[in-house]
Amino acid sequence: MVREQSHEILMNVPVPVRKILNTLERSGYEANLVGGCVRDSLMGLTPQDWDIATSAEPAAVKSSLSGYYTIDTGIHHGTITVVADNMPIEVTTYRIESGYSDGRHPDHVIFTTELEKDLARRDFTINAMAYGNKGLIDPFYGLNDMRGKILRCVGEPEQRFREDALRIFRGLRFSACLGFSIEQKTFTALLSQKDSLQNIAAERIWTEFRKLLTGKYAGKVIKKTFPIFAVIFPELSRNSEGMSFLKIWERMGEAIDRSERDLILRLAIFFFIWDTLQDSCPDLSISISQALRRLRCDTKSLDCVCEVLRCRNLNLCPETIALKKQMAVYGESCLRYVLALHQAYQKSEPFQEIKQELDRILTSGECFQIGMLAVNGRDFEALGVRRGPEIGQILRWLLENVMEEHCTNEKTALLQFFQNHREVFYHAEGSASIGTCI
Ligand code: ATP
Ligand code: MG
Repeated sequence: MVREQSHEILMNVPVPVRKILNTLERSGYEANLVGGCVRDSLMGLTPQDWDIATSAEPAAVKSSLSGYYTIDTGIHHGTITVVADNMPIEVTTYRIESGYSDGRHPDHVIFTTELEKDLARRDFTINAMAYGNKGLIDPFYGLNDMRGKILRCVGEPEQRFREDALRIFRGLRFSACLGFSIEQKTFTALLSQKDSLQNIAAERIWTEFRKLLTGKYAGKVIKKTFPIFAVIFPELSRNSEGMSFLKIWERMGEAIDRSERDLILRLAIFFFIWDTLQDSCPDLSISISQALRRLRCDTKSLDCVCEVLRCRNLNLCPETIALKKQMAVYGESCLRYVLALHQAYQKSEPFQEIKQELDRILTSGECFQIGMLAVNGRDFEALGVRRGPEIGQILRWLLENVMEEHCTNEKTALLQFFQNHREVFYHAEGSASIGTCI
């Protein structure tokens, strides 16, 4: 294999990482940076972590780096984590993987002293470059692909996706985050091997899916590759009301690309189209929460997305009283998400005015929550009201009157208002009409 090498490329490597590379080399081994850190550095991005590949086997790595604290992270597969200046750095022996009979893990891992063989097992050419004291080592022409903004498999794409179907989603993720186009053979294989994704653990897919969805080019990728998403979400293969499948996914992709790169918002945009599916579950949020749970989405994000989708049909307007009442019921953050969801789908609402009014209400300190009232339960206990649900009802009633500007939010004014209108309250309360809208 030709070893494409370049001394002209210079990467900015943190001092602790450089020291580990040098120590391994002084012990007589090869040591190179590999994978994501090389890719990101060459693209001018900040690498999230620094991975080293070496010709030294794990025991030799540990003895060469005996001055460092090490953790046997995956020693049988060749990985040792070395902590240098509080920075965890993974050092992995060059290895060859084979077998993959389950479509997700190699049956055999053997160590090798040849860097090219280690690079050959990696997924995409841009992830199969190494950088060390000899400069850039690039046997699969990853730098060329990077310059041409092309995502290409190392080796035969179909076989590579059959070995480990997670690579399909990694491919979509890199394309969505970096804006790279997918090389034709790689693209064809992504689609033809999509059903193997069923073998992949949900949490591995979720990790890639969330990165993909918040990528700058997520919508474009989703539009082109939607049948792959339908494997993960079989619910999305249902009949669609009047609209072609392609049209639905196009609308969604465009909405995603119009939106901010926030995971909750983009999940809401993604699932919003379930509304257009003919036989979708009557309670949309139930089927969405099932799908997100299946993917191992964290509960906080799941609850938030479902809440936004429950409110998806809210009528939003910049009218102060109506907006305050919605803030009281749904909360400010949820309303902002609903607004952004509508904006992404280009609904006709005066978005700017609504946002301005939301901001104004918040900064003005005007009351839209029981906790913001200038009175609390103890004030009514002092007036002889029994502790219990009645006090909550009084506070809700007062809040409504403050929001409707029938009363100012001052303690004496509120107590006076209660004294003057308590018959109205008890009458309304008796006819069960109080508190229904808050
Ligand atoms: P990120 O920036 O998200 O960390 P990454 O490419 O660095 O992206 P890692 O999971 O850190 O992803 O993997 C490090 C390297 O290991 C990759 O760059 C690639 O060379 C290789 N790799 C990771 N997962 C696979 C896989 N499923 N198949 C083949 N090679 C892989
Ligand atoms: Mg990485």
